[in-house]
Amino acid sequence: MQTASRTLDAREIQKWDDEADVVVVGLGCAGACAAIEAVDAGAEVLVLERAGGGGGTSAMSGGVIYLGGGTPVQEKCGFDDSPDEMFEYLMAACGPGPDEAKLRLFCERSVEHYHWLVDQGVPFKAKFYPEPGMEPPTDDGLIFSGSEDAWPFDRIARPAPRGHKAQAEGAAGGFLMQRLLAAVDRVGARVRANVRASALVVEPDGRVVGVAASEQRERRAFRARCGVVLTAGGFVRDREMLRRYAPALLACNMPLGCDGDDGCGIRMGMAAGADAVRMEAASISLPLYPPKRLMKGILVNRHGQRFLNEDAYYGRSGEFALLRQEGRVHLIIDDATYVRNHAGMEISAVGESVEELEREIGLPEASLQQTVELYNRNARRGSDPVFHKSPDYLTPLEHPPYGAIDCSTERAIYAVFTLGGLRTRTSGEVLTPDGDPIPGLYAAGRTTSGLAAQGYSSGLSLADASFFGRAAGRAAAGA
Ligand SMILES: Cc1cc2nc3c(=O)[nH]c(=O)nc-3n(C[C@H](O)[C@H](O)[C@H](O)COP(=O)(O)OP(=O)(O)OC[C@H]3O[C@@H](n4cnc5c(N)ncnc54)[C@H](O)[C@@H]3O)c2cc1C
Repeated sequence: MQTASRTLDAREIQKWDDEADVVVVGLGCAGACAAIEAVDAGAEVLVLERAGGGGGTSAMSGGVIYLGGGTPVQEKCGFDDSPDEMFEYLMAACGPGPDEAKLRLFCERSVEHYHWLVDQGVPFKAKFYPEPGMEPPTDDGLIFSGSEDAWPFDRIARPAPRGHKAQAEGAAGGFLMQRLLAAVDRVGARVRANVRASALVVEPDGRVVGVAASEQRERRAFRARCGVVLTAGGFVRDREMLRRYAPALLACNMPLGCDGDDGCGIRMGMAAGADAVRMEAASISLPLYPPKRLMKGILVNRHGQRFLNEDAYYGRSGEFALLRQEGRVHLIIDDATYVRNHAGMEISAVGESVEELEREIGLPEASLQQTVELYNRNARRGSDPVFHKSPDYLTPLEHPPYGAIDCSTERAIYAVFTLGGLRTRTSGEVLTPDGDPIPGLYAAGRTTSGLAAQGYSSGLSLADASFFGRAAGRAAAGA
């Protein structure tokens, strides 16, 4: 862990190497949106980026942005949505204990945010892609990217797809960032690449007035006349921080993040007295689908028991499997339901009977047999009174041979990134544990705790990075 456990006293700075009204640390999605809005609010902006250029994890992403409440894409694809339905879903799905003020504002302004993204040169094709899960291989612009149409959420809010993918085939994060970086350039924000921020510069009264950094091994100091915005990503690539704050993630084999996700932005904020919240939270994807047809199988824990409706978003299955079942889970299917998993998760055990499969994978005697017997009995009637899986995915498992896909952390893909970080207001102002704003300090994206307190739906990270990045840029500019 590279520490940023202290701040630098402004009185120690002999000379500033550069200055601007607003200094943004990190040029991913949050940093780009902060920079664009700060310039728009009349500020001179300097962006510091530790890599050779902007992009960050945002450029590696699928480019799916969670938007709704009646966007033009939703309307053209024939889906009814409203800010209230979106809010009800997110309040239920992002918990426990999501930030209600952030969710409310985000839902109310989601359509406006859609138009802002389009104005920055990020197009979305008004075509619905029916297979949920990962970003579509096509350039289609709309998918179900969470558990909106699965129990219990389908009873809480009217289901609507809200995953909006920037219009490019397959993973669209590179395209999204190309367009946002072009907008940063167009508005005239200055970018200094290969500059690694290491500490905040603070006046004796606690006001943040600049950033200490290194550039080609030289020490640098950058003055921020109005404010500093920390948008330096999360901490999934820092094992020491994971050990301290989110140890369950250490078992996961696919950290979703660039080198910059080392928690530096969070530690810089904490050193200046910021509160860090929900540091254990993470997006935990267990990509059991696509194809979603595989969800006709059942997920069982080490006691041979089901633990959720399998048609839920795979981020919910991953979260439940890792955090509630210690990552010891199998997907059970039969010959009629089996289909090849797109992420390459293979059958690991086969049995001519459920009893044989149960023995093969080492489950307690009769446990899986009872589970399958009960599941089949109800599935024949088209119901799932225990976990309420949709009838679309309810089929009795009765066609041998039976198979199991080992979804343990040792064998399956657990793709994770952190969701915890600095506590901020909707304006991006960074707060102390007492809830007071730290003068001159703002943050957004994975450096903060954003829309998803724990429960995640795909697209929420880029959504809050872009939406609250904009807010932080405006606030730092004094708008
Ligand atoms: C394969 C993959 C697919 C994904 N798909 C999606 C998706 O479809 N939708 C979605 O919402 N999320 C997705 N995610 C997650 C999402 O990409 C990230 O959570 C999000 O991009 C974070 O944005 P950010 O602006 O906070 O951070 P980043 O985009 O990582 O930007 C942070 C920037 O700060 C820089 N930086 C770090 N430290 C310093 C420092 N000390 N000094 C200067 N600069 C620094 C970094 O180099 C980086 O450029 C995906 C992630 C991956 C890896």
